[in-house]
Amino acid sequence: MENRDQVAAQNHACASCKHQRRKCDETCEMAPYFPASRYSEFQNAQKIFGVSNIQKIMAMAAPDQRQAAAESILAERECKEK
Ligand SMILES: [Zn+2]
Repeated sequence: MENRDQVAAQNHACASCKHQRRKCDETCEMAPYFPASRYSEFQNAQKIFGVSNIQKIMAMAAPDQRQAAAESILAERECKEK
């Protein structure tokens, strides 16, 4: 479905890894949700939430909720948690 983002995730570090200067590979759980094309949005979000909190939010979200969680993070909104 999102072929462009998948290619980007494979060829470039995702926004999270790029920010942390980490190697990004196919096991990266952040890559599908924070592609390099959204790096500037990720930068803004991590200033508010912090990378560790973003990772925590993503880890706590159920797999089918992660896309929505990522969108909330990138939109700089508080992620609602039960
Ligand atoms: Zn990554």
